[in-house]
Amino acid sequence: MRSPTISSTVTETEDDRILGIVEGDPDGPTVVVVTGMHGNEFAGVDATQNIFDMLDGIRPRINGRLVALRANLPALKHRVRYLDEDMNRLWFPSIIEKVRATPKAELKSNERRQMKHLLPILDKIEKQSEGPVVLADVHTFSAEGSMFSITSSDPRQRKLLSNLYVPMVFGIEKSLRGTALGYYQQQGFISFGLEGGQHENELTEYNITASLLLLLHAVGAIEKQYVEKIKEYERHLKEHTQHLPVETELVYQHIIEPGDGFAMRPGYSNFEPIKKGEWLANDNEGKIIAQTDGYILMPLYQKQGNDGFFIIKENEG
Ligand SMILES: [Zn+2]
Repeated sequence: MRSPTISSTVTETEDDRILGIVEGDPDGPTVVVVTGMHGNEFAGVDATQNIFDMLDGIRPRINGRLVALRANLPALKHRVRYLDEDMNRLWFPSIIEKVRATPKAELKSNERRQMKHLLPILDKIEKQSEGPVVLADVHTFSAEGSMFSITSSDPRQRKLLSNLYVPMVFGIEKSLRGTALGYYQQQGFISFGLEGGQHENELTEYNITASLLLLLHAVGAIEKQYVEKIKEYERHLKEHTQHLPVETELVYQHIIEPGDGFAMRPGYSNFEPIKKGEWLANDNEGKIIAQTDGYILMPLYQKQGNDGFFIIKENEG
């Protein structure tokens, strides 16, 4: 085994986009954490920094590699979801090809320019990785309520995520078109969206730190005994999610049309049970009523965004 080294914890010279890289045994797994795809979602950036601080203290460092990235730097700087267009709705093969082929200066939107920087970094990770690549795309949301993961129902993913004690939601990755998740999966990465909690809630950073640490342990990148806090984090996540369904499936998605005046009724939080016929929101056409029983997910309480809310049901298959 090559002796593990930290090549950098915070890289400022190469590219601000790379939050950090920890390298150990090259045959081990590669864990990629993508943060800040939406610029108003900082908890993932801070949580990743916590992970680097913790790994700084352990010997041997890590089996494999941890790479953490910030996706949309100008949006993070301005603390907005996006500047020109939603970066997490652009990952269609035709757009990706165009972004790759067009010189940066000719790309008209900030988010496409960000993508142009991010793509070669992801390409390089893929090329350099001998073991499996696991990618967590970290987000936060505007409502209160529990964290969850967005994943396919692929048994490999389910098995991995069951170690995180984070409720899994299937089907969103197919219904939300143009998200980066589809692209990562196509690249052969085992990938999932980690929705850590409400944007500004203090618990959110802790939730994400806990999940990422358990992820590193689940893939075999770190041994439990090296990290004092891992048991505490595990306990926290178990408690945080103990009353929630482990596996759920998307059954309804309310799409917001530009200018339709969508407004969620106040007080809804993630995983709140709702009944068919319940008055959930309003738009210019009038009341928006629940189409089905289930749990509400990601009710929108911010200006930017195209999805008003989702309804999920416990997975029985
Ligand atoms: Zn997001």
